[in-house]
Amino acid sequence: MNPVHEPSRRQIVQAALATGALAAVSHAASRTAGNSTVTESTAILRPPMAHELPPLPYADTALDPIISAKTISFHYGKHHKAYVDNLNGLLKDLPDLAGLSLEDLIKKVAGDSSKAGVFNNAAQIWNHTFYWKSLHPKGGGKPTGKLADKINASFGDYDKFKEAFANAAKTQFGSGWAWLVANGDKLEVVKTPNAETPLTQGKKCLLTIDVWEHAYYLDFQNKRPDYVTAVIEKLLNWEFAAANLG
Ligand code: MN
Repeated sequence: MNPVHEPSRRQIVQAALATGALAAVSHAASRTAGNSTVTESTAILRPPMAHELPPLPYADTALDPIISAKTISFHYGKHHKAYVDNLNGLLKDLPDLAGLSLEDLIKKVAGDSSKAGVFNNAAQIWNHTFYWKSLHPKGGGKPTGKLADKINASFGDYDKFKEAFANAAKTQFGSGWAWLVANGDKLEVVKTPNAETPLTQGKKCLLTIDVWEHAYYLDFQNKRPDYVTAVIEKLLNWEFAAANLG
């Protein structure tokens, strides 16, 4: 490589500062100690707030046999990742939105038809991250404590909640989500189509079940009700729900 084209450490830092990529400064600068200047110069071109695919909170085999590693390889490794890549691609041309947190971005573009692509990909990132946390290999069973009291007060008892949650998940027509949310003092079960999320409705999300076909088709084919029942009985992460309730 012609050394004339290699950026100096000072140039990298200045370029990073100029683009507001403060987080990238130490990253780029630390790499100047190495010997890969090509990587260094591309590192500072990343958007300062590029959204990332969060790590799965368990091994890809942890939810087997209800949700197999093969399903996770596609659902997390392909679908969830694609939403992240798509959003970062769209935000390259939308600098005013590129600096927002994921939640702020979702709320800002919700209902704006000119930003439907941004909303769909951003909300799907958030919904999926929330979905993975809503599941736990040792989940299921009944909630306890304050959450159990709220379930009983809002639905009558756990079985009535379970019936309502399962019914929402089974009857969401086409792609979408079933949710347990807190709306003020009351808990509610709601369903949303496609990428829609209760996050934009002023409701506090506690748990979700993804009912897009990609969530269950490899393991349950067309039998969505069997997937829903198994998730509710064996995988729901009540500790996560309780933490969300606060
Ligand atoms: Mn999904």
